Amino acid sequence: MAGEPQADCLFCKIVAGEIPATIVRETDTTLAFRDINPQAPTHVLVIPRVHYPDAASLAAGDPGAAADVLREAGKVASQEQVNESGYRIIFNSGPGAGQTVFHAHAHVLGGQDLRRLVA
Ligand code: AMP
Ligand code: ZN
Repeated sequence: MAGEPQADCLFCKIVAGEIPATIVRETDTTLAFRDINPQAPTHVLVIPRVHYPDAASLAAGDPGAAADVLREAGKVASQEQVNESGYRIIFNSGPGAGQTVFHAHAHVLGGQDLRRLVA
C-alpha cells in the first residue's frame, strides 16, 4: 500500500532504527540526518517517515508529509546556520538525475559557495 514501509529500502530501515544514522532533527512525520558522503560542509537529508519513491509521488500521495519535509529542510538550514549564507534543497528524481535511494528525500546543502555544485 502507498506509504507503507518497504523491506528492501535503506531509508525505511533508518526510520525503523535498524540502520544507524546521525540524526539532527526529528518530528512525528520526518527525520533529518547527515549524508554519509557529504558534498558540502552541511549536507543533511530530510525524509518523510512514510515510504514514497520520490518527491512528486510523496506530494501526490501525502501532501501533508511533503510540506513537513520542506518545512523541516528550512529548520535544518537555520539549525546548521546556513540560512543566511544560502543553501540548496535538492530532490533528485530518477536514476538519470542521480537518485540512488528510492525513498523520497530532500538534500539540504550549505556552508560553501554552491553556485557550481551539483549534488
Ligand atoms: P540520492 O543520490 O539523491 O538518491 O541520495 C541518496 C543519498 O543518500 C546519497 O547522497 C548518499 O550519500 C546517502 N546515503 C546513502 N546511504 C546512507 C546512509 N546509510 N546514511 C546516510 N546517508 C546515506
Ligand atoms: Zn522507504
